[in-house]
Amino acid sequence: MDPFLLLLPLLSTFIPSLAFQIPTHNQSSSLKQQILDLAYDPITLNWMKRVRREIHEFPELAYEEFNTSALIRRELDHLGVTYRWPVARTGVVAQIGSGSPPFVALRADMDALPIQELVDWEHKSKIDGKMHACAHDAHVAMLLGAAKILQQLRERLKATVLVIFQPAEESGTGAKHMIQEGVLDNVEAIFGLHLVIEYPLGVVASRPGDFLAGCGGFKAKITGKGGNAGFPQYSIDSVLAASTSVISLQNIVSREADPLDSQVVSVARVEAGSAHNLIPESTTFAGTFRALSKKSFYAIRKRIEEVIVGQAAVHRCSAKVKFDGNELPTIPPTTNDERIYEIVRQVSSEIVGEENTRLAPKFTGSEDFAFFLEKVPGTLLLVGMRNDKSGTMYSPHNPYFVVDEDVFPIGAAIHAAFAFSYNSHSTTSHF
Ligand SMILES: [Zn+2]
Ligand SMILES: [Zn+2]
Repeated sequence: MDPFLLLLPLLSTFIPSLAFQIPTHNQSSSLKQQILDLAYDPITLNWMKRVRREIHEFPELAYEEFNTSALIRRELDHLGVTYRWPVARTGVVAQIGSGSPPFVALRADMDALPIQELVDWEHKSKIDGKMHACAHDAHVAMLLGAAKILQQLRERLKATVLVIFQPAEESGTGAKHMIQEGVLDNVEAIFGLHLVIEYPLGVVASRPGDFLAGCGGFKAKITGKGGNAGFPQYSIDSVLAASTSVISLQNIVSREADPLDSQVVSVARVEAGSAHNLIPESTTFAGTFRALSKKSFYAIRKRIEEVIVGQAAVHRCSAKVKFDGNELPTIPPTTNDERIYEIVRQVSSEIVGEENTRLAPKFTGSEDFAFFLEKVPGTLLLVGMRNDKSGTMYSPHNPYFVVDEDVFPIGAAIHAAFAFSYNSHSTTSHF
């Protein structure tokens, strides 16, 4: 899948470059200070780096994350954190805290991409044709960092934190699979993050409500009656029915959608016939659709089916339209809950500073974290790591993609702080 296709050139104009300053440490015993101290502790930071590099050297694709999963369990064992495994084949769900409500979830994804790494460095991928080019290795390391912080401060934790390590984000199926296995049962709120290069190191961004686009595929088969193309009256022409369907599909966005509500329908593949003088029995075609709001996403999906079935009928054909399945995963729009967004914004501003906590524009990329957000209120946060010095200038899914590991304390601290903060936000607004 293309879960994180980002509008890089457009976005970079929004972002003034800001030098990041590590929050000042003093001997305050506040919870925030304790979280920061633990996150920036060189022992924790070096451990997160080691974990991430080990995962990076041995990338595993969707649902093959067996070694990654074993590594996570090994580290959780060292931390003395209990967990449930396997969930959705390779997933791990750790539990920290009182064991009683409220239950709050933190999530990281574990899978790599079928990309040959072209970055030459000490911990380059040792598996040909596979690479952690979407920072999921770093997401795991930061979430383990958060687990360590939470475990150390568990006496002060009044909630139960579920620490979710999810398989198969890139195939768009892992989150859904985990939900089917009950990981969100009793969960009140969920938080996830993604490293991005659109924002400099030390800057984070998100937005309330509609955030990332939903992304879906469809495949249609139109069936008529084959025959000699010289005698069309004896055939029922599926090619003509498919052709008018493709044209009519373009009218959905241009004639039915609000021009200010971005949507896409593209037909990218058409297959029919084997000879120039034979009308084929059937014609198949396939395409993709995207929309930023849930309402538009499901409306467009419904209209795609109606238009194809209707156009087929006009031409005396029948049509079958398929949307789901491994080949055509449908990822809904990522819609942040406004209340949880506000908590995340506040927590982030306490970790990185108000001036480094931004309102992100909407993106037409997509993330399977959206499945979690369909079930429970939550927020996805973009965590910036662009840094010319460390070479973090390539976007995810690029063979030159590099992670700046100095971002790890920020990710770990925000994860941990969110868990504490949600607990107190049941009633108050500061953690
Ligand atoms: Zn990705
Ligand atoms: Zn990703």
